Amino acid sequence: MHKVIIFLGPPGAGKGTQAKHLASELELVQLSTGDMLRDHMARGTELGQQIKEIQNSGRLVSNEIVVALIRDKLSAMESIRVIFDGFPRTIAQAQALDVLLEELSAPISSVPLFEVPEAILRQRILDRAAKENRADDTPEVVEKRLQVYRDETAPLIGYYEPRGNLKRIDALGTTDEVYARLRAVI
Ligand code: ADP
Repeated sequence: MHKVIIFLGPPGAGKGTQAKHLASELELVQLSTGDMLRDHMARGTELGQQIKEIQNSGRLVSNEIVVALIRDKLSAMESIRVIFDGFPRTIAQAQALDVLLEELSAPISSVPLFEVPEAILRQRILDRAAKENRADDTPEVVEKRLQVYRDETAPLIGYYEPRGNLKRIDALGTTDEVYARLRAVI
């Protein structure tokens, strides 16, 4: 049975953590374009070198690149049971995803939106920076990522909301509390 869940929400909202938990409970594959791109950088592939500057500055990698990554992953799957985490991030990506899913006859099941006030996001990302060593977790780059979210990604709320599958989730609190809220709407 196909199952397609799209996680929407700003950087630092905790999408990755919740996606891992839900993926293991529901036997879904977590598709994080951020992780895929970081993996290319870590392996030093041609793509990795090409995107390094862009990703480290907080801007978005081109739609063509991320859509191609997603297309490759989906085409290798027998049943489409996925959580998209960090994708789509632009209206153009959402439209490309609609085309891919249509071809695969795999409709979107639900679109949880993780909501966190911006001031708290800044703090969370900077706390994470102290633990992990991500080049895009510096204060200036964090501001850029938040701005890119507001300008490019937040419009996806208006894209999915009229379809009726957008689920707003208060993402403040412990990871267990947020997970319980997520499970209540999935
Ligand atoms: P976060 O959710 O914490 O911002 P991600 O790991 O999802 O982090 O993404 C990190 C960076 O990777 C983004 O700032 C962007 O440069 C790039 N990236 C990830 N996903 C996409 C995407 N769907 N489209 C374009 N760029 C992307």
